[in-house]
Amino acid sequence: MASNSARTPNGGHLSKPKIKKLPASYYDQFLSINAKERKPSPIRGLFPLEKTPGVISLLAGKPNVSTFPFTSFSFTARDPLQSPSGPGTDENNGKEISVQIDSQALATGLQYGDTAGIPSLLRWLEGLQEKMHGRTVGEGEGWKICVGSGSQDLIYKAVAAMINPGDSILVESPVYAGVIPMFQSLHCDQIEIDTDAHGICSDSLRKILEEWPEGKRKPKVLYTVPYGCNPTGMTATIERRKDVLKLAREHDFIIFEDDPYYYLYYGSSSRPPSYFSLEATEPSNPSSDEAEVGRVLRFDSLSKILSAGMRIGWASGPDILLGAMERHTATSNLQTSSLTQVITYSLLSTWGYDTFLLHTEHVSQFYREKRDVFQKAMKKHMSGLAEWVQPEAGMFFWFKLCGNEENANDTDSKALIEGPAFTNGVLALPGTVFLPNGRKSPYVRASFSVPSEEEVEEALRRLGETIKNERSG
Ligand code: PMP
Repeated sequence: MASNSARTPNGGHLSKPKIKKLPASYYDQFLSINAKERKPSPIRGLFPLEKTPGVISLLAGKPNVSTFPFTSFSFTARDPLQSPSGPGTDENNGKEISVQIDSQALATGLQYGDTAGIPSLLRWLEGLQEKMHGRTVGEGEGWKICVGSGSQDLIYKAVAAMINPGDSILVESPVYAGVIPMFQSLHCDQIEIDTDAHGICSDSLRKILEEWPEGKRKPKVLYTVPYGCNPTGMTATIERRKDVLKLAREHDFIIFEDDPYYYLYYGSSSRPPSYFSLEATEPSNPSSDEAEVGRVLRFDSLSKILSAGMRIGWASGPDILLGAMERHTATSNLQTSSLTQVITYSLLSTWGYDTFLLHTEHVSQFYREKRDVFQKAMKKHMSGLAEWVQPEAGMFFWFKLCGNEENANDTDSKALIEGPAFTNGVLALPGTVFLPNGRKSPYVRASFSVPSEEEVEEALRRLGETIKNERSG
């Protein structure tokens, strides 16, 4: 078969391969018993019919918004075009934009809405995914979006939609502590995949999959945080990403791409593509002109760039899986707050994509400066006491305490961090918190997003002093 996708010297492709969507029946093997048994809500499932021209709806128990006391809603926001220095400076005074939510949008914000999210926000986010990941929505593309109350809400629902008690799950290790209890409560077998300064170790993943015991059900899911990982701060290289995607295709698992730090990338080289993007650009095999899509479920979040308290995240991925997650929403919290969705959409549409992206550049620049401050203080106070790799995205330093012991890997940071370090006035997290099996860890996670330069200097001085005292004592 003739290929329309020649390789460039650096392994990219000159032309895009054809998209091949996996059939709906493929996902049968991935849905949990619970998800298969969950019926659509008899009312919410009919919401879209209310929009049929000429139909008078007597359907839902929606309150009449005219009884609500809110009559108008407006807010002001920073205008990134007028504040070149971005957040964290005083230069925004008087350079704000005023956003008025019109009466129709306000009525939408005060009312129940579609389970997946309000259509205007969904369309805006689809446009963003196209811009950032090159994926367009439409027949044959095989993906859609739904909004959630933060990405955590959606990750939880995705886990519930796919995992049965006793299933095996592939998790990068160390892993975001917020997902460990999800897997534990389902009594999952969490298979830890090593990570290093280049992100998830695809060779370790390959070994585990190739040596998988015959007769044992293979893992359905790999959970990974590819940019500025929580807790390690590391960003996976493009080579690792390609290899992981290849393994997902060979061994049939879905990649949970949990990516709240995507817009907080401040590395010196260009940002590697997301898994969501890669699966549509990497041919299924070297001689193919097709890219099979549908093995990536991507989670985005506005928590680190617009507001954590608004609780807006979104999932992009195979429609069958998102449908199962939406049925969960329809029986749990019904939907994400309409009002926060309307506020979010009003700001995003007032800004437009380019201004939004300028804002995210300002935010990532802010974190880069914070990272530099932390790095300087680490060098000053922790040299010889700890080892680390400087992060290129996100808000975490992950450092290994160098013990006096012969085998530093046996050093456990927990006692030091929770005991003398805290007594000496510094609070951080011991590495064990991020290990699914809770074993000892010589690592510490320090978040550098909030403390001022003076606080960072003092915190690391105290930590260094504590370690030295412990060693001499
Ligand atoms: N995933 C990771 C890796 C995170 O660090 C966080 C936030 N701490 C979340 C998900 C949850 O983010 P959200 O506020 O969007 O629910």
